[in-house]
Amino acid sequence: MEGDCVFCKIARKEIKTEIVDESENFVAFPDANPVAEGHTLIIPKKHFTNLMDLPSDLGSELVDMVKRVSEKRMREGAEGFNLVMNNFKVAGQVVMHAHLHLIPRKKDDGVRLRTI
Ligand code: AMP
Ligand code: ZN
Repeated sequence: MEGDCVFCKIARKEIKTEIVDESENFVAFPDANPVAEGHTLIIPKKHFTNLMDLPSDLGSELVDMVKRVSEKRMREGAEGFNLVMNNFKVAGQVVMHAHLHLIPRKKDDGVRLRTI
């Protein structure tokens, strides 16, 4: 249900959070339970359940945001980053609004990706 969807509420600014980046169709904000410093979620503003619903013509806008946020995290000290997207419950998706995890990484940071 879009009305009850927590990420729709963030996209509509009904839930206040730090906006890390915003474009016409996407918004990036900090994960509430970060697995690493700077762990960021990138979501489409419209409610799509997972990658299969996301219009393919939004792909380049999404990649542009991934690059901007990654550059920001690397300016802040990250040395690399993982991108993780859980699609469908069996793959660990809990919030049924499509989202990409951007997880900044540093050497020997001990991060184990519980999202996988
Ligand atoms: P998953 O659906 O397993 O890919 O993960 C959902 C992610 O959303 C988890 O990492 C949560 O910590 C995160 N999350 C859930 N609710 C919020 C919220 N209100 N603000 C920020 N992150 C959230
Ligand atoms: Zn939603």
